[in-house]
Amino acid sequence: MELSALTVMEARRALDAKKFSARELTEAYLKEIALRDPDIHAYLEVWAETALAEAQEADERIREGNALSLTGIPVAIKDNILIKGRHASAASKILESYVASYDATVTTKLKNEGAVFLGRANMDEFALGSSTENSAYGVTKNPYDTSRVAGGTSGGPAAAVAANMALVGLGSDTGGSIRQPAALCGVVGLKPTYGAVSRFGLMAAASSLDQIGPIGKTVGDVEAVFNAIRGHDTNDSTSLPDTAVYVKKPKVIGVPRAFVSSGVEKDVSLRFESVLNNLRKAGYEIRDIELPNLTYSLAVYYIINPAEVSTNLARFDGIRYGLSEPAETIGDVYTKTRGRGFGPEARRRILVGTFVLSSGYADAYYRKARAVRSLVREDFKKAFESVDAVATPTSPIPAFKIGEKSDDPLAMYAADIFTVPVNLAGVPAISVPAGTVTRDGKELPVGFQAIGSHGGEEMLFTIGKDIEQTR
Ligand code: GLN
Repeated sequence: MELSALTVMEARRALDAKKFSARELTEAYLKEIALRDPDIHAYLEVWAETALAEAQEADERIREGNALSLTGIPVAIKDNILIKGRHASAASKILESYVASYDATVTTKLKNEGAVFLGRANMDEFALGSSTENSAYGVTKNPYDTSRVAGGTSGGPAAAVAANMALVGLGSDTGGSIRQPAALCGVVGLKPTYGAVSRFGLMAAASSLDQIGPIGKTVGDVEAVFNAIRGHDTNDSTSLPDTAVYVKKPKVIGVPRAFVSSGVEKDVSLRFESVLNNLRKAGYEIRDIELPNLTYSLAVYYIINPAEVSTNLARFDGIRYGLSEPAETIGDVYTKTRGRGFGPEARRRILVGTFVLSSGYADAYYRKARAVRSLVREDFKKAFESVDAVATPTSPIPAFKIGEKSDDPLAMYAADIFTVPVNLAGVPAISVPAGTVTRDGKELPVGFQAIGSHGGEEMLFTIGKDIEQTR
């Protein structure tokens, strides 16, 4: 069993043909975790015992001929997705002892599939960051160079998949948190259309931007997981109806030239151009387009995100959930609990968010940001009248050194330039490996991002597979 080359589809075939059992497959991943995770720290908790029991159940199901596409497939779950009876901390001190009282809808779906839950994977606290350095439980290191970050905020699941410590993973993406770590770890990540996957049981960061999505080694793996977790859910009022997604052979890819030409490191840009060239050779038309309002995306995102985060994090008050610091007055309970429980980035977002929502400033910041957000959405809408997909690098830079940007929030935010417009518009996007660049003598992966219109996941899978085939 060669884990590094194993895909979901191959594992499915081998499991169904009894070439190896789900138990053996799970054991192989647990062995790899024991070997590599002390160094990488992708997991906050590994559930070896129950994973083996779940694998055994999967084997029974396979024997009975009742296997579904993910039966016996070992997965890593980001620490902000609820699994009943399990700790879920969103990598925060404030939820250190919190145990989920219900299953997220994606959890229920994976359980119905018979997937094997390996453990909960590390992340930036409450999904705020771009490097997993904001975890209260220590940074996740990049499997390609352990002096560098795995990206964030889903650095745990991305590193787990990249280092063969899970076959696939679930992350969440509010402004790039699936695609950016996938790019930096050399794996595939999909941020689905807003509403395509239920957010029920996902700890809210910024509700109008959050989406759960899959991370895997191949486009096919990501597609398999997406198909298992998608679908309408009455528990999520923003969930989309199960209307047929449009399937069309994509032909024209638009490149927002002005937008992608600034701030991208030279060799990262070359990797991007070389993928475009391969697509051209494969029969795609590559067309320069303009998305004039995308330059405002970062500014808009870093107003809307903190506004919603400050609102969502208000529920952590020392009374309802998790950590509670005793004090004389209720006000002191709030301030002591929140002061001790939240890390610096969460506190920063709460301060910024409270400011931009406060009376007197809401018009100047929050409402203006919302107005510009609709312009970003319009830009995409117009672009999709003439192109099937829009392409950008996933990140302007490869994995950076641990600590390099942790004292400079603005430099950290700048890494999100190509991913945040997608969440503002609510459209789907996939990050596919686009080769490597060299830093300090080490090969570091970079990603190619393809963005589709609402419901366009199928098309993104087609483009992604064409990229894989022309590599
Ligand atoms: N880096 C972005 C932020 O810190 C995106 C995070 C995310 O997608 N969860 O807000």
